[in-house]
Amino acid sequence: MSAEPAPRGRRETDCDEVVDRLYAFLDQELSSEDEVDVGRIQRHLDECAPCLAQRDVEVVVREVVRRACASDCAPEALRVRIITQITQVRA
Ligand SMILES: [Zn+2]
Repeated sequence: MSAEPAPRGRRETDCDEVVDRLYAFLDQELSSEDEVDVGRIQRHLDECAPCLAQRDVEVVVREVVRRACASDCAPEALRVRIITQITQVRA
């Protein structure tokens, strides 16, 4: 959101960027131009527990939605509800 360049931190990839690209990463929708990013995101997940947890939640949500719907018709409301439930279980 910010126009400021991301500060150089300990990690080569910012958490916000990882979360932002998580959907494309899981969907394997990153283009060939983004193959470098796939590696960066994977490395980030290897060393960042919060992002890894976020990835796991997203994987579970996808599986639940797939079973519930058996197609690409999952409404956003269902997604949000599932994510909320998982978050509450973990909290
Ligand atoms: Zn992270």
